[in-house]
Amino acid sequence: MEAWAREPLTPAEVGAEFRRHPETVRDAIRAGDLHGHQRVKRGRWLVERRCAAAWVRGAECPHQTNATVVPITAARGRAR
Ligand SMILES: [Zn+2]
Repeated sequence: MEAWAREPLTPAEVGAEFRRHPETVRDAIRAGDLHGHQRVKRGRWLVERRCAAAWVRGAECPHQTNATVVPITAARGRAR
């Protein structure tokens, strides 16, 4: 993969490149539909190009296929 393809994008850049409104991009990140991360808490969002590409296709990004979300039932079972 080329180096530029690994550079994370801001929501504005994702919007420009994938023809989405920047606010739509931020909403998707907050909703968990789009995989984004922040270097500092409450800092600006950064999105990997491949995650954005997966999002516009309505697919899960490579990271989310092995997401670390613990189902409620599993968490409850461990607590017992
Ligand atoms: Zn991802």
